[in-house]
Amino acid sequence: MKILDGKKISNDIKDEISKEVNEILKSSGKQPHLAAILVGNNGASQTYVNAKVKACERVGFKSTLIRLDENISQNILLNEIEKVNNNEDIDGLIVQLPLPKNFDESLVTNSILSSKDVDGFHPLNVGNMVLNLPTFISATPAGIIELISRYNIETSGKNCVVVGRSNIVGSPMSILMSRNTNPGNATVTLAHSRTTNLKELCLKADILIVALGKANFITADMVKDGACVIDVGISRVKSEITKSGWKLIGDVNFSEVSQKCSFITPVPGGVGPMTIAMLLKNTLLASKSKI
Ligand code: NDP
Repeated sequence: MKILDGKKISNDIKDEISKEVNEILKSSGKQPHLAAILVGNNGASQTYVNAKVKACERVGFKSTLIRLDENISQNILLNEIEKVNNNEDIDGLIVQLPLPKNFDESLVTNSILSSKDVDGFHPLNVGNMVLNLPTFISATPAGIIELISRYNIETSGKNCVVVGRSNIVGSPMSILMSRNTNPGNATVTLAHSRTTNLKELCLKADILIVALGKANFITADMVKDGACVIDVGISRVKSEITKSGWKLIGDVNFSEVSQKCSFITPVPGGVGPMTIAMLLKNTLLASKSKI
């Protein structure tokens, strides 16, 4: 069994981006700039945004963090987005999800200019992704594709099962794996909470990609011998061992599944760091398109 080391690969990607930023700075004076909007005080969201800001520093990007109170009206948020849309210096904008309950998430994400939508959530970018046209591909699925590619995992003709059909992970993942590209060309099954024969389907998967958000949900008896297992899930559970009192757990029961698969992503250190690396890559792309 081989670990798909997202931490290492994401560091390689950050080094590559950093090098390119230096070259762009020298030749054009342009420094890529990512803005992030965080509404409210959700602990996990704050951690994710901070990690994104830190990653920007690491590769030489400018970053702007806009923090808004949980009780603001949706119009105030839309105004902030408009300001960033009109700010020539800012190349990419992300609004950290989930938003507090009274916000319409799709209205908010659709308000981001598609050319600055480095999360790849705007309908125009999703449509381009489906049609295999140049676009910003949603960072988590793009990170998984990059990981598969850098470990030379064969996907063509393989059975791929994706568990979870969210707009940001499962659904785009299933499309990317079924496209006529490399990685891609897999025969894909997209499973969700209404799927009745999940175990049977998972047992047929050469590549099993799991994104449902339920700790340790996938057990060894659901995994084919020699499968490649990609665990997207992140659940925060109490721990008596860690300093913080919390630890992160994936959707896959790592200790038992790792005994029988060929490749597996750890949690943390697998898909998570790749997601941030691909967000940076999309921001670099947005910045370069303006030069
Ligand atoms: P959502 O809650 O939006 O989607 C969960 C999906 O899982 C839904 O499609 C749901 O089905 C399906 N599901 C739920 N229960 C079952 C079940 N028993 N059997 C089969 N399918 C089921 O989650 P996200 O896609 O946003 O995130 C999934 C996980 O990935 C979370 O833990 C999240 O924290 C993590 N994540 C990690 C990222 C990273 O960078 N590593 C990035 C983004 C997310 P239905 O549609 O029918 O309700």
